[in-house]
Amino acid sequence: MSQDQNDIVPPEVERVRHELKRRTLTVAAADYITPAMRRITFVCPELADFISAAPDDHIKLFFDTGEEKPAMRDYTPRRYDNDRRSLTIDFAIHDAGPATAWAVAARPGDTLEIGGPRGSAVVKGPVAHWLLIGDETALPAIGRRIEEAEAGASVTAIIAVPSSDDRQVFGTEADVDLRWIDRAGAVATDPAPFLGALRDVDLPPQTFAWIGAEARVARAARNFLVEERGHPLTWMNASGYWVADQAGVSEKNM
Ligand SMILES: Cc1cc2nc3c(=O)[nH]c(=O)nc-3n(C[C@H](O)[C@H](O)[C@H](O)COP(=O)(O)OP(=O)(O)OC[C@H]3O[C@@H](n4cnc5c(N)ncnc54)[C@H](O)[C@@H]3O)c2cc1C
Repeated sequence: MSQDQNDIVPPEVERVRHELKRRTLTVAAADYITPAMRRITFVCPELADFISAAPDDHIKLFFDTGEEKPAMRDYTPRRYDNDRRSLTIDFAIHDAGPATAWAVAARPGDTLEIGGPRGSAVVKGPVAHWLLIGDETALPAIGRRIEEAEAGASVTAIIAVPSSDDRQVFGTEADVDLRWIDRAGAVATDPAPFLGALRDVDLPPQTFAWIGAEARVARAARNFLVEERGHPLTWMNASGYWVADQAGVSEKNM
């Protein structure tokens, strides 16, 4: 079925550039929305012109670690409201790292410097079905894609979370088939649960597959879709949102 897709003109991915701005945000609220996800809502007058044109945009977060230069990490603008001058970021909490440590300790009144988004990749064109694949670090981008999808849009999402308590509910009028992988203590770097879920997943014509997960997992999922399911690369975007055993490293658009 998917091979038919090689004959269909792929969607255009429009690269939209934004003026690169740095802003200093103040924490307005910080709460665990699930055991491993801390949602932080920030306010700042300069968010009046914040723009994020695609659900998988990222901003740079700057963390003071006492070194000469701050540590930089990429995060997804989960929600923003120009009128309220607010921005929400969801932090997947893992063992260690400056972003995680900062998010765990964050309290109202704390400040954080951010930059961007520098640009957005807006997928345009004849997408009839979205296949969204990711772990908890991609849950903000996947959640945004689902919540921003138009009424009746067709979406299948395969999402791995640390435990069943980390599943989320999305407000959407899209037609969404959510398939959760509860790792229940298993490592996030094993692609097997994703490959098992992809073996039989429907790939109707004009399916766009989006993947965000640990780099090895993302690459394995992408290769599986191409090699085992015949899905064209032109109908796909895969990124390593983090790389095991490497701090502050990602592999975008692999
Ligand atoms: C485009 C993009 C958007 C992203 N959006 C989000 C987002 O909205 N929310 C979010 O939580 N993350 C998001 N990420 C992932 C996030 O940037 C990384 O997980 C980042 O490494 C976390 O920084 P840290 O300081 O906590 O850990 P680091 O200092 O970077 O890493 C310390 C150690 O932890 C490991 N590690 C890093 N992340 C994880 C993890 N999630 N689970 C287990 N081990 C890990 C590293 O391999 C390293 O060994 C995004 C990444 C990209 C590329």
